[in-house]
Amino acid sequence: MKPLQELVRPNIWKLKPYSSARDEYSGSSASVFLDANENPYNTPNNRYPDPLQRDVKKGIGKIKGVPVGNIFLGNGSDEAIDLAYRVFCEPRVDNVVAIDPTYGMYQVCADINEVAYRKVLLDDRFQFKAEDLLAASDERTKLMFLCSPNNPTGNNLCREEIERLLRGFEGIVIVDEAYIDFSEARSFLPDLAKYPNLIVLQTFSKAWGCAAIRLGMAFASEDIIALFNKVKYPYNVNLLTQKQASEMVLRHYEVDRWVKTLKEERAWLEERFRALPCVERIFPSDANFFLARVTDACAVYDYLVSRGVIVRNRNSVALCGNCLRVTVGTRLENEKLLEALEKYK
Ligand code: PMP
Repeated sequence: MKPLQELVRPNIWKLKPYSSARDEYSGSSASVFLDANENPYNTPNNRYPDPLQRDVKKGIGKIKGVPVGNIFLGNGSDEAIDLAYRVFCEPRVDNVVAIDPTYGMYQVCADINEVAYRKVLLDDRFQFKAEDLLAASDERTKLMFLCSPNNPTGNNLCREEIERLLRGFEGIVIVDEAYIDFSEARSFLPDLAKYPNLIVLQTFSKAWGCAAIRLGMAFASEDIIALFNKVKYPYNVNLLTQKQASEMVLRHYEVDRWVKTLKEERAWLEERFRALPCVERIFPSDANFFLARVTDACAVYDYLVSRGVIVRNRNSVALCGNCLRVTVGTRLENEKLLEALEKYK
């Protein structure tokens, strides 16, 4: 890896971050708080939340086996994706490399930040070769985006190729593990110390059942986390979210139960899909959704909408011609989908 200072935008490296009232005093012995221009009434919502979300991070750290100093929390993992651009990529100068197809926000954030986005097409098994991503990079490539299990394809990326990239690329490798809880593959979290250029993204929006609270996690070296903390909004995760996340940490056994059920449900739904006349192919999935190639994705999609059932039409995405992405729901929801598809002509 290049020295971090060479990878970070010079203005960010030099940045003197905003220091909030709760940054300057974060002790627990005080009882009178007249430092933040808050309203003394309407507790607890009158007070600014912990800018570094220490309690939540302690709970997450225990579950994930990661020290608190290696954790960043944001307004969804989308915040961490955007921060990676703002920290590392000089607009109109730097570029990033990503697999294609993959999660759309990597490109949207690149476009917003005016950073060139270089796509490398996956093969027909939705896999990549590290050497192809390296060949697409140059000395101005700051980030590489991998998503495993990948969205919208649902498969795990080959672990050896990810490791090859982590060793071979001198910039930052972002491994988005939004769907890792549903996967049989091993997370990269235990490898954080081995790869100083690794950022792992996870989220409360999928297995944790908390998409509404907007909480994303980034795990990386303390130095990278410190850069994210320097650039983020001072109070980027609100109190209600922090409270709900802490409660979910205590109810983590529920997440394990949901994951087990959803994986069983995925297998059942895939099996039933295979028998449908309009389904041509189901792609293997390690996520809480799967990609299915149908006879005519746009027609099937419109038909399902007319029946009040919404799936994702991925027809226009690279390698996904005539594909629908189906999220696994409850048995009742899945049955409604199947019932509709069985009547499709
Ligand atoms: N990464 C991937 C691969 C996703 O599919 C999604 C959401 N669809 C996200 C990140 C964003 O998750 P969040 O809700 O945490 O912003």
